Amino acid sequence: MSMTRTRCTDLVVGAILASWRYDISGISPEMRRDYEQHFVECARCSARQKFHRSLDVTLAALTSVSALFFLFALAVLKHIKPLEHMAFKTFGLDIEDTYHMLFSAGIAGLCFSVIALALVLTATPVPAYLGGIASERAKLIEQRLPAAIRSLRLR
Ligand SMILES: [Zn+2]
Repeated sequence: MSMTRTRCTDLVVGAILASWRYDISGISPEMRRDYEQHFVECARCSARQKFHRSLDVTLAALTSVSALFFLFALAVLKHIKPLEHMAFKTFGLDIEDTYHMLFSAGIAGLCFSVIALALVLTATPVPAYLGGIASERAKLIEQRLPAAIRSLRLR
């Protein structure tokens, strides 16, 4: 059976979850229990939750990469600066204007990427989601630790 043809087991809960983009990290732990139970029971909603969280992480990654790209471009422009007088003499190009245009574009791009990243991080549960993955990994590692080390840590 395909994902889209799977019916939600509770359409009312499903609609509420859809309006939250399947993010229940913002609600109180007591309220969360019912929705967590629904994710366990409902294949459709849990699949959608996974999809939305990976979409959030992808957006955060893209905006971070974009910010890094503009930082890199600005760094490159900064290193090109000493060459501009030489290029001006050699080619007679209006390097100064071009340089300022590129630099402004770089600054604008960097600002835009940082704002977009801030929006993604505040509007989506990415920080909590990644934090959850990290703590789950930590738990797994702890389970695999030899008993001797674990008993040391308990002291
Ligand atoms: Zn459902």
